[in-house]
Amino acid sequence: MKKAVLLFLVLNGVLSFAQKKYVAVIHGGAGTILKKNMTPELEEQYKEKLKEALTQAYKHYKNGKSSIEAVEAAIMVMEDSPLFNAGKGAVFTNNGRNELDASIMFGKNKNAGAVAGVTTVKNPIKAAIAVMQQSEHVMMVGKGAEQFAKSKGLEIVPSSYFWTQQRWDALQKVKKKELNANEPNAMNLNYPSYYWVDQKFGTVGCVALDKDGNITAGTSTGGMTNKKYGRVGDSPIIGAGTYADANVGISGTGWGEFFIRATAARTVAAKYEYHNKDIKTAAQEVIDEIGAMGGDGGIIALDKNGNVAMPFNTEGMYRGTVTESGEIEVQMYR
Ligand code: ASP
Repeated sequence: MKKAVLLFLVLNGVLSFAQKKYVAVIHGGAGTILKKNMTPELEEQYKEKLKEALTQAYKHYKNGKSSIEAVEAAIMVMEDSPLFNAGKGAVFTNNGRNELDASIMFGKNKNAGAVAGVTTVKNPIKAAIAVMQQSEHVMMVGKGAEQFAKSKGLEIVPSSYFWTQQRWDALQKVKKKELNANEPNAMNLNYPSYYWVDQKFGTVGCVALDKDGNITAGTSTGGMTNKKYGRVGDSPIIGAGTYADANVGISGTGWGEFFIRATAARTVAAKYEYHNKDIKTAAQEVIDEIGAMGGDGGIIALDKNGNVAMPFNTEGMYRGTVTESGEIEVQMYR
């Protein structure tokens, strides 16, 4: 009998060791992220920023703060870095502007907030949270969203704050290819402009679980290089780029039009809830569906038990996790 108890305890210990409980997962975008295109210095910079974002999320978890605050803190680290296509490092539109999108969803009560096409809000994730917590609306766009953010005391910057050489050069490169579209080795116009640029994508996202068991998901982006006519992608659309309920939280990155058409984030949650799929299977199936439709990208997802999924069908995805005990892991390649 004693032996059986001992065996049970040992097995239990081994199992709980094997099944880590994750409390936050982040992404910094999916795309052509290949070791051969990366310098060791740049690789280090990405890893450090991802770790910093996870450290922030963990700090809030440990202090018993809500997952909303953990997501906000992690995303702000990445928005303030020029490395990612969100906040400071946002890509340019066709007419040389930076138009930013962000969204957040709190799973417990399915409250949500989003902004799209903002050009002067330093941290769009904060504006999305303000829409969620301080307005009767879910989504605000353009000038109105900026006016609202200002009225709530959020930091407003001149639009030139978002100008970076690297993103400007990327736009020029795409425009040149577009002009020369009829030349023999021109890029395929059926593909979105981000395919044409040898650059790293970097929409950012975070899903976090707090000590009360509540899940929050958030996403922030500059969209896609050379986007036109007020184009808005999946990132600020609840159910497409971001979703959270009492069971799971999801944030996506990739070719936004496909994520919208696949209602990607909501579909992961639906598979989990209605089809009893585990989070890895649910997220993978949605990425496979997007792939079959002709799109690409990646998804991060976290369930109420601390299980995590990070599938993608691109060459790489900046991503990372932190466990209940503060163990941080970051990855970039396949
Ligand atoms: N999903 C974003 C968009 O379509 C872009 C990205 O994640 O790279 O706006």
